[in-house]
Amino acid sequence: MTAKNIEWALETDVVVVGAGGAGLVSAINAHDQGARVVILEKMKTVGGITVLAGGGVKAAWDLDQAIAYLTKTQGGRVGERLIEVFARGLVELPAYLRELAKVNDAEVVVREGSHGGIYPFPGATTIYSVTVKDIPGFTGYPWAHTGKNLNGQRLFKVFLDNVEQRQIPIHTQSPVTSLITDGEGAVIGVWADLAGQRQAIRANKAVILASGGFEFNEKLKKEYFEATPVYAMGNPGNTGDGILMAQKVGAALWHMWHYHGSYGFKFGDYETAFRIAPGGARNPDRPIAWIVVDKEAKRFMNELHPAVQDTAARPLGLYDADIPDYPRIPAYLIFDENGRKLGRIANPLTSHPDHQYVWSEDNSAEVARGWIKKYSTVEELAQGQGWDTLVLQATLQRWNQGVEAKTDPDFKRPPGTLLPISEAPYYVVPVWPLLTNTQGGPEHDERQRVLDPYGEPIPRLYSVGELGSFFGHLYLLGGNLSEVVISGRIAGTDAAQLQDWR
Ligand SMILES: Cc1cc2nc3c(=O)[nH]c(=O)nc-3n(C[C@H](O)[C@H](O)[C@H](O)COP(=O)(O)OP(=O)(O)OC[C@H]3O[C@@H](n4cnc5c(N)ncnc54)[C@H](O)[C@@H]3O)c2cc1C
Repeated sequence: MTAKNIEWALETDVVVVGAGGAGLVSAINAHDQGARVVILEKMKTVGGITVLAGGGVKAAWDLDQAIAYLTKTQGGRVGERLIEVFARGLVELPAYLRELAKVNDAEVVVREGSHGGIYPFPGATTIYSVTVKDIPGFTGYPWAHTGKNLNGQRLFKVFLDNVEQRQIPIHTQSPVTSLITDGEGAVIGVWADLAGQRQAIRANKAVILASGGFEFNEKLKKEYFEATPVYAMGNPGNTGDGILMAQKVGAALWHMWHYHGSYGFKFGDYETAFRIAPGGARNPDRPIAWIVVDKEAKRFMNELHPAVQDTAARPLGLYDADIPDYPRIPAYLIFDENGRKLGRIANPLTSHPDHQYVWSEDNSAEVARGWIKKYSTVEELAQGQGWDTLVLQATLQRWNQGVEAKTDPDFKRPPGTLLPISEAPYYVVPVWPLLTNTQGGPEHDERQRVLDPYGEPIPRLYSVGELGSFFGHLYLLGGNLSEVVISGRIAGTDAAQLQDWR
């Protein structure tokens, strides 16, 4: 079908695919440059996984320092020009966010204790976080299950109120199913299920893909991740649609292997998984109750990585060709009675409407449900798990000796995080690689234009947010939300300035 034959149900300048944070920031910026904008959202509710975020948004004080730091954390996987543009975005971000926050008198503050990047690279001291602390009268969205932490929801409310103030239409329950191109490969519109009907929507200037990651696309996860399975929490609508649509019109993909992830829990009766409680930067003075062992009851990792939600999934992914199997999928989290009482081990976070589980503070409800298994002795624990008793005893003995000496000689977990495991009863629960969000997707240039495998922009197609994220080596904790703002600003502004294709 050529563009001439298409019956357009709707016409606009910029079509934004996805009503998460990045989509909304793109829409605001395209609108402010004079473009007409339509946002299409697949799900019944808006906010994607942006509403679930802890709400730390990374920023930077100094441009050169930020470039130095990002150059190391990006590990040579991203070009200099992109790094520079992202670093500049980090420096400008707080002022821009404060500008947007005027819409509802939101308070944007520097996050306490957020000074410094996670990794000890040059430039780390220039990194810090901001967050939206308060919005008068706002108590959260009913569909976002984030416990007491409303930071991500508040950030999203700042975006959404700006969209509403500008009267930019959002069509929910309107999944985009494919891109429409002209004879030369330029993207001129989309096909979407609008009001239950397949409709063509014309984009006179551009289409901005803001459809999030592939957290819930099992095929893509199997294809691109070494470990399997890798479970997800978050928004079940994030199934990598933007990746497939971009591929179909010739996009190159990047960073597909990289996800922001840790280890966590998955139980048969819940579609979404539960992430372990610690998030953010490691607190070296706060004990955590457990150790993690492999299928033979041997420890294999530092259970508390510098940013536990960044890289802590990686050690589980090892494939042992001699077994041949994954010896750490699942792995097992072990703690004792004191550890059980220390606080809940999991942090349920989801916008799945059917999964609003509240985890008990002392983990007793989950023991009662049978999710966490309880044993009276170490021997019974070994037997119940099918482990060699001597191996488990040796693991616990070595661990407890280390705790007493305030050291973890095997994996260098910080002394302040160590707790003995010696007070019966004992508890065990399987843990799996668990992703917070994916980073892969269509490759883009510094203008957020989607590139083909030869580095040429696909005309009139942009991608923003975690869809084809800037991150592809180490994650800048809080960097995905920065990217929502930075990439949305750039793409929205750029797209609006294009000449109409007609
Ligand atoms: C629990 C949790 C905590 C986090 N904490 C932080 C944090 O503190 N700091 C930080 O920087 N990052 C954090 N992140 C990551 C960050 O929230 C996300 O990477 C970021 O918000 C992604 O924004 P986005 O707009 O790209 O995607 P999303 O917010 O997921 O939005 C994508 C939208 O596109 C829609 N969509 C999908 N397919 C289609 C289609 N075919 N048609 C139309 N719409 C479609 C989806 O339904 C969704 O609404 C966290 C993530 C999670 C899950």
